[in-house]
Amino acid sequence: MVNPSKIKEAYRKVADQNEKFRRFLKNNAVDYELDAHFLKLHNMIFAEYDCCACGNCCKLYDILVNKDDIERISQYLGLTENDFIEKYLAASDEGYIMKEKPCRFLDEDGKCKIYEIRPSVCRDFPYTDKPYRLYHMYGVLSFAEECPVVFEIIERLKKIYKYRSNDCQKEKRKNNRRRNTNEHGW
Ligand code: SF4
Ligand code: SF4
Repeated sequence: MVNPSKIKEAYRKVADQNEKFRRFLKNNAVDYELDAHFLKLHNMIFAEYDCCACGNCCKLYDILVNKDDIERISQYLGLTENDFIEKYLAASDEGYIMKEKPCRFLDEDGKCKIYEIRPSVCRDFPYTDKPYRLYHMYGVLSFAEECPVVFEIIERLKKIYKYRSNDCQKEKRKNNRRRNTNEHGW
């Protein structure tokens, strides 16, 4: 697994390949089969990974907080909704977001202080267990730039779809053709 502090660097090395892989999936993958692979890898990798050692999503993203989240979290904190909004949230084009980055509810051990009642986007991120991933690959790949688990899922998907070996085989065929042209003038 990529170290969370090195994820940007690691992502830069595979960014072009990931974009080609996205196009490959679009042309070759069957949507429900891809979802099944995503779900299996999501469950397998998150079961072994300690998100407290990362926290990138809590440090780097604008965290949307919807109406239900506001009601639930303000109640939990014993604040009125207005006081909660004033203290913790900021307005954005898409609605309220957490005012600060890293999120103020992230503690020094990497744990979420409101884990049980955290916003729904925090619960759902990085969406790799959701259906229709084939139609959301831009989003999935952008998360691989910050989330080591998504990065790992993409790398394992390349293996499952034999993407690298296909690439290599294509390259090999191209080289063979070139060699034949040079040697035999075909
Ligand atoms: S509410 Fe919790 S899970 Fe969500 S960003 Fe803040 S610390 Fe992370
Ligand atoms: S979900 Fe991804 S980015 Fe967020 S803490 Fe876990 S591994 Fe890190």
